[in-house]
Amino acid sequence: MKKEIADKLAMEYSHLWHDSMTALPDGWISALVTMLDKLERLSSIERSPSRDPEGLATWVDLRIEVSAIRAAAYATPVRPAGKWRPGRALSCIDALNDFADQCSKICSVCGQPAVSDGSHIRCAEHTVVQPQVSRTQALYQEVRDLFPPVHGKAIDLHVPDHLFELLASSLRSILKLVIQEGVVGKVLITRVEIDDGALFVRVRYQSLTAVFMGTQMAINEMISDLEVLSDEATRKHNLGGSDATS
Ligand SMILES: [Zn+2]
Repeated sequence: MKKEIADKLAMEYSHLWHDSMTALPDGWISALVTMLDKLERLSSIERSPSRDPEGLATWVDLRIEVSAIRAAAYATPVRPAGKWRPGRALSCIDALNDFADQCSKICSVCGQPAVSDGSHIRCAEHTVVQPQVSRTQALYQEVRDLFPPVHGKAIDLHVPDHLFELLASSLRSILKLVIQEGVVGKVLITRVEIDDGALFVRVRYQSLTAVFMGTQMAINEMISDLEVLSDEATRKHNLGGSDATS
């Protein structure tokens, strides 16, 4: 909570305030205030004017524990303990329970009704949406060792659906070979693009000694296979497409 609010509450509820309460998120402050009000009134519950005419300023020392999905209040009777009567003790326990219960049901940002998503208690408006990593981004990360560090738009893995798995498996196979042969950084795919429906892939070998001639030929073959297979896949896809629309 903000310091101004903490200062205000610390003054208003000076007998019950504890610095652990500052960890509460703003949305849960109303639940805290409700609890503090109930605990302030403990003296008036089942009070016997003859035995405790003054009442106690407070009956408990409070602590709050907060995480992203729960908040709990812990109370210890103050020493010397006042006269705890059954109704007073129950009211105290109810206040603590209600606080934890409230915090589990209201948005920790705004205090509107909310449910736990397992990592936060947030209303629909304040739900933290994790951006979905697209399959294209995931593939790029997986095989990025094949690409030059800087390539502008020359590498575009946004290929049509019917080519994606083919492209992905070919790039994985090439990377596997590159790692096996210990030539990471020396085999660079410098271009992946779709031009007029056809997939083009370009590779550059840098500082690759003659010892790796076999590796180089194997990679060239994998790339030409990929291009041929993707042409076939595109042809089939287009045929299927025209059948479906005719
Ligand atoms: Zn909210």
